[in-house]
Amino acid sequence: MAGADEIGAIFAKVDMIYDPTSHRVKVQFQRQDRLTEAFVLLPHAAGNLDINGAQAVYLSQPRVNDSKPDFGRVPLFCICSDEKCRGLSPQPRITAIAYAEAQKDGSYKRGPHWRWHPDDWHHRACFWLLREVAQRLETEERRARIKHIDDASSGSSDKYMPRQQTPRRTDHVDVFVVSGQNDDTEEAPKQRLVPSDIDGRTLLPTVQRIREGLRYERDHPSTTSILRQVVSSYDRLKAEGRSKEEVLAIEGVTRSFYDWFRMLSLYSAVNASEIQRIWSGGASATHKDDRYVLYFYDKVNVGDRQIKPRLTLTDELLNRHRRGPFLREAVRECLEGDARYVKVYWYGQLDVNGWLVTPDLSDDLDRLHIAAVY
Ligand SMILES: [Zn+2]
Repeated sequence: MAGADEIGAIFAKVDMIYDPTSHRVKVQFQRQDRLTEAFVLLPHAAGNLDINGAQAVYLSQPRVNDSKPDFGRVPLFCICSDEKCRGLSPQPRITAIAYAEAQKDGSYKRGPHWRWHPDDWHHRACFWLLREVAQRLETEERRARIKHIDDASSGSSDKYMPRQQTPRRTDHVDVFVVSGQNDDTEEAPKQRLVPSDIDGRTLLPTVQRIREGLRYERDHPSTTSILRQVVSSYDRLKAEGRSKEEVLAIEGVTRSFYDWFRMLSLYSAVNASEIQRIWSGGASATHKDDRYVLYFYDKVNVGDRQIKPRLTLTDELLNRHRRGPFLREAVRECLEGDARYVKVYWYGQLDVNGWLVTPDLSDDLDRLHIAAVY
């Protein structure tokens, strides 16, 4: 058929196999999984979700067997979210990785993410497949440009010519948006329309269009409204020794990551201009009736008194908020699991009401992150 060889050649270039008979494509690699969305199938939920949404759906299942590592929860079963792929039989599976565990404090390893299933065939016009093609072609061209510069400079007297074309590392969050009661899911790129009758003539222009979208994404700051993402970025930068070099913007103020993060033990010592920070402190947890109470270990000065702040999370609040299941899981690791205590991060300041001192969250759990400490 017309264009089949051409299509096969393009997919082969990026380690994908094209089957000209069924018009389906299979990925051949396991590394660099850049999927941002999948279709999740659970007995009580189904739909397109980003990995954080999928994790919340998983964790919102009740624990039915405490002796099992996954507490008897039904594991996530996911398929490709592209409608053309969902129409295939069998439907191509997508694997969810590292979604069942609570985040550990200081852990900068890659968190929950999606992975292609190497045995499954996708529609040749699958959006995610073409996005991967676009990304890989882009990476290859950039590598070729770098090599070109190196080759050109190798004969010159200046052996230390900087690699100007090396891509800037933008794997950390640039902007934290304090969103209030924003109910958006994570920043999964919107699916652009990809024709289903794709052939050799339409494939390249389609890939080119997706590529322009990717360039736009890359050249614009990476934004999140979830504090957990910021904490993960900070942990990674700290481990790489870069937390003083890289900057983060919050509410129009840009500071280094290192400058944004403060330990609760320093709270009483800072002046008013330093109050608006990302605070963190260790806490013990209790569960009574319909609420969890986290008691911070550090004291803060209120007038001439020293008070230990505490944070109360009601079931009602946890059930209402998209981050609720995730936060509850970290606290439970401390109450029922092996965690010794929890580390609480929040953006903002402390509210003082008589003897009650508590993180000022305005019920916005996106501004709160809880990690289990083992
Ligand atoms: Zn697909």
